[in-house]
Amino acid sequence: MGTENPGRPSFPATPFAAAPPTMTPFSNSGSVVGSEASNLRPMRPTVPPNTSPPMTAGPAGSGESPAFRPAPPTRFNDPSLPTPPSSYGPPAAGTFNRFPTPPFGSMPPGPPARAPVVGQPPFQPPPSQVSPPLSFRPQGQIPGVPMGSPPPGVNTPQIDSSFPASRPNFQPSFPPTVSGYPAAGASSQLPLPGYVKQSNAPFQAPQGPPVQSPFQSPPVGYAPSAPTPSPHFLSQQGGLAQAPPVASPYGLHSSTMPPMGAMQGLIEDFSSLSIGSVPGSIDPGVDSKSLPRPLEGDVEPNSLPEGYSLNCNPRYLRLTTNAIPNSQSLVSRWHLPLGAVVCPLAQAPEGEEVSVLNFVSSGIIRCRRCRTYVNPFVTFTDSGRKWRCNICALLNDVPGDYFAHLDATGRRVDLDQRPELTKGSVEFVAPTEYMVRPPMPPLYFFLIDVSISSVRSGMIEVVAKTIKSCLDDLPGFPRTQIGFITYDSTVHFYNMKSSLTQPQMMVVSDLDDIFIPLPDDLLVNLSESRTVVEAFLDSLPTMFQDNLNMESAFGPALKAAFMVMSQLGGKLLIFQNTMPSLGVGRLKLRGDDPRAYGTDKEYSLRVPEDPFYKQMAADFTKFQIGVNVYAFSDKYSDLASIGTLAKYTGGQLYYYPSFQAANHSEKLSHELTRDLTRETAWEAVMRIRCGKGIRFTSYHGNFMLRSTDLVALPAVDCDKAYAMQLSLEETLLTNQTVYFQVALLYTASCGERRIRVHTAAAPVVSDLGEMYRQADTGAIVSMLSRLAIEKTMSSKLEDVRSNVHLRIVKALREYRNLYAVQHRLGGRLIYPESLKFLPLYGLALCKSTPLRGGYSDVPLDERCAAGFTMMALPVKNLLKLLYPSLVQLDDYLLKPSASADEFRKVMKRLPLTADSLDSRGLYVYDDGLQIVLWFGRMLSPDIAMNLLGPDAAAELSRVTLVERETEMSRRLMGLLKKLRESDPSYHQLCNLVRQGEQPREGFMVLTKLVEDQTGGTNGYVDWLIQLHRQVQQNA
Ligand SMILES: [Zn+2]
Repeated sequence: MGTENPGRPSFPATPFAAAPPTMTPFSNSGSVVGSEASNLRPMRPTVPPNTSPPMTAGPAGSGESPAFRPAPPTRFNDPSLPTPPSSYGPPAAGTFNRFPTPPFGSMPPGPPARAPVVGQPPFQPPPSQVSPPLSFRPQGQIPGVPMGSPPPGVNTPQIDSSFPASRPNFQPSFPPTVSGYPAAGASSQLPLPGYVKQSNAPFQAPQGPPVQSPFQSPPVGYAPSAPTPSPHFLSQQGGLAQAPPVASPYGLHSSTMPPMGAMQGLIEDFSSLSIGSVPGSIDPGVDSKSLPRPLEGDVEPNSLPEGYSLNCNPRYLRLTTNAIPNSQSLVSRWHLPLGAVVCPLAQAPEGEEVSVLNFVSSGIIRCRRCRTYVNPFVTFTDSGRKWRCNICALLNDVPGDYFAHLDATGRRVDLDQRPELTKGSVEFVAPTEYMVRPPMPPLYFFLIDVSISSVRSGMIEVVAKTIKSCLDDLPGFPRTQIGFITYDSTVHFYNMKSSLTQPQMMVVSDLDDIFIPLPDDLLVNLSESRTVVEAFLDSLPTMFQDNLNMESAFGPALKAAFMVMSQLGGKLLIFQNTMPSLGVGRLKLRGDDPRAYGTDKEYSLRVPEDPFYKQMAADFTKFQIGVNVYAFSDKYSDLASIGTLAKYTGGQLYYYPSFQAANHSEKLSHELTRDLTRETAWEAVMRIRCGKGIRFTSYHGNFMLRSTDLVALPAVDCDKAYAMQLSLEETLLTNQTVYFQVALLYTASCGERRIRVHTAAAPVVSDLGEMYRQADTGAIVSMLSRLAIEKTMSSKLEDVRSNVHLRIVKALREYRNLYAVQHRLGGRLIYPESLKFLPLYGLALCKSTPLRGGYSDVPLDERCAAGFTMMALPVKNLLKLLYPSLVQLDDYLLKPSASADEFRKVMKRLPLTADSLDSRGLYVYDDGLQIVLWFGRMLSPDIAMNLLGPDAAAELSRVTLVERETEMSRRLMGLLKKLRESDPSYHQLCNLVRQGEQPREGFMVLTKLVEDQTGGTNGYVDWLIQLHRQVQQNA
């Protein structure tokens, strides 16, 4: 909480006003709770149904009820208002009412939002054990929504071709189909090299029908283990001062290139690909070996030399192009998203840790007009007494404490002691004017479903054990706060007061009017109540082991958690196994309706029906609560609705469909541990400023906007990225350079309020070619993915995919128009070197879980969960998810002395196509979320025995990979460990698949091979041909 602009009017919290209408602060439950507590039996309290709040007669509530109301949110200043104070004086009054409801009064700044605990605890704990709830009435089971196989043929549209060419998918645009994009053609099914085709295999291998090529191109497909990336694919991104490389057209058809003489004047670094589509021929004329593939993973743009070397590292801020267009007309010809992807807390590159600076004596130096933080791009004049803001050009006074003389070149003499003037990323300790209340302690609150399905899945035990194992590592010791609520058809609270030896459970069954049965001690200081917390976690799995309750009062439990947390804010972790069935927020089994696909109503499956969850998310954000949802159900549970809790609070949705502890506990345990122990920035807000004439106009990711440009992030960490799009405000930019500055104001777990600032500059250009040359495919794909996923909330999947396709077509067409005629490249697909992977990533995006196919291709919950995940992923993780790594392992494992480090050197990523899989090999597939080991049918039995022991002959779906007493097994396990460590944001479970094991092989591996035609989707070659035709046709 706080203000990122303390010089502006601030908005102190008002803890005593405007409790949300749903609150029932401490109603007269005292006696009820007391009686329950005395025998510690969780029974339904006999609360009179019409109790009106607030009561003051409860034994514990006397005189304290105001303190139990949630503090209203702090509001944040509107940065767009130019109210430049000449000094950092006390805030003036303001009227920034950015939240629609409720209006808040003002109060003196800075009181602790939480009232001190007064008096004795009302409920003396009898030293008995917490016993399981007594009377659970079994209730009718909620029927699941069938997620099974679709009606046959739903996703295999037949498309008429109006082209003379016999490949039916040479359509210039997507024809309307039932779902999915056009089938990749009724090509014959040929056996693949190295892959024996299954008669019932659900996929279709990529293949060009055998054809004559005017260029005598080698056959499509190539030897399995020979992924030789063309040397021309080396990254050419960035590098403003580098001489643009001379054209390096690749493809094997250099004979179709203009003679070298014609190349003399060709200094643009574009590339081209020969696509010989001769009328009447069905030969794609494409050598699939030579196609560009991102086998090196994400390549961050090189930091720009000369003048831009002071930019922050690209892992914090990436622009979709590092050349900003100077005019509207240029923007409109760019066709790709224009904007930035920001990951403010990305892990610092080694040796480049962000310096923390304390400016308490002089105050943090900021422009008094636009509030930009001092940075390496400001200039000092007037003998060091003034500094010019690089963003708005205002001349500011240098405060006396910050003054330094300038040397002969105009540089401050103290420059080398000033990280804020030499580094693109710094962190300032924020003085008190950046706070409107004391910095909050790290707070973790757990809301755990204990209904029968949770019990049976084993989830509760894994969660309890993991939380317990993390208690020493939760950030913020000794201030860390913790609390728990469990729920089934009732809501269970736990008194964790430090003087207790066992927690006391209190049950509230009045779901229509949920209240907190205890004024305090539901949220406790972890170090003080450690014993009680541990006792609770130890007993939690057994407490509910006989629970037969099938209901879920999730909504009321959520409101209860909100009431408990709202005074402080913090992180709410929800463990949800059953579709909410009781009280507010109960969800209908609207299900995944196959008939809705392909109609105008399709999108509604993917958006929440009940506004309750979005409203709750808004309330949570307002009160500095970030929500992470862990969902486990084996049935449809409407994650479209529940996921909004994470989406709008800057949180994360973890999905473990059909969770069973025996299979998934390792993944859950690792991911929960990371969630609990990673460094977290609390009560944060983020703003990105940019130079005059341009403006960020839309924001994309998991968060809520607090004003037009202030991103509210109750809890943020290194695994979250945000994207924003830019517009030009003026028709013509006159400056040479524009600057961007990301400021994240947050509370560190240590209790310090800080501002992390990343600054970067980019040149303004008038040349479209330069924009393309400086394009950053990673940032573009990240932005396109977010836009596409957002569009699935209002459009058919098919339309969303067409849109991705069309955008790429338009960009390539525009680019082609720049060069094609001039360089006589008529028959070739031309693209900038910087965008060489864009078509493939575009294809992969269309085949990603949120966008893929139709009803039958992805269960709805899985689709929604993947969408929430992809909206938050940093660029590097997203690209890995879109184009995962596939590596052959058997050679490495057979080497007698190979080490995991050595593997890294020889590790060669293969194209994602079935052609890469040799049935004599062993392969590892890794997309950052899961790992699959693929055992070729002809793999040496020796390797299989070494790795799997007696399980080698079993069906691999039943086999769990464990380390065995063989060198080969140790080497493999070491390797998997390295893979996981290189990408720790999720824990990749390792699945084993044997070639031909259907349908397992199909959904685990074959549908993930994005270059292949599968289930009516395009293969890479077809996709390129389609792009090329469209680029040409409408040129
Ligand atoms: Zn300024």
